[in-house]
Amino acid sequence: MTDILPSLDAIQARADAATEGPWDDEDCEGELSVRAGTAITQWKTLPSGTRMGTPASSWKSSDLIAEWDLDTWDWGEDPNDDQRRQDAEFIAAARTDVPALVAALRAALALHRGGAEVLGYDEEGVYGYVPACVECGHAVPCPTVRAVTAHIDTTPKEDGR
Ligand SMILES: [Zn+2]
Repeated sequence: MTDILPSLDAIQARADAATEGPWDDEDCEGELSVRAGTAITQWKTLPSGTRMGTPASSWKSSDLIAEWDLDTWDWGEDPNDDQRRQDAEFIAAARTDVPALVAALRAALALHRGGAEVLGYDEEGVYGYVPACVECGHAVPCPTVRAVTAHIDTTPKEDGR
C-alpha cells in the first residue's frame, strides 16, 4: 500500500528541481503559456498612454515553461480551449501551491510527534503507559498523523525520491 502513495520527499524534490517560482499563466490571442522569471510579462505605460508588455526577445529562454496554441482567443468559445486555460492556471499555481502544501504537512507532522505517554492499551492489550503524541495526547500514531499518512508516504528517503 505504501508503494502507491506519493512520497512527501519525492514531491518536495520535484518542486525543488523545477524552475524557480512564482509562475504565471498567460493567454494572449490564442497563445497560452506558463512562464517564470523574465518571461512573466511586466507591463508599463508609455508617455503616449499605450500599455506595453516586455517582449519575448527579452526573456531567458528557459523561463518559458510550457506553451500551447489554442483555436480561440476568448473564454467560452471552445470547451477544449477553456480546459487548456484551466490546466495552465493549475500548472502555474502548482509551482507555489505544492511547496506550501508540503510545508503545511511537515509542520503538522512536526507538531504531532511522539514523545509523550498516556495510559491506554498497547498492541497486545495490556493496560499501562503507551507512547503518545506530544500535541494531542492520543496514542501514536495520532489521528492527525494517520490522516496524513493515509494519503502521503512520509517515510524519509535517502535520495529524496
Ligand atoms: Zn497528535
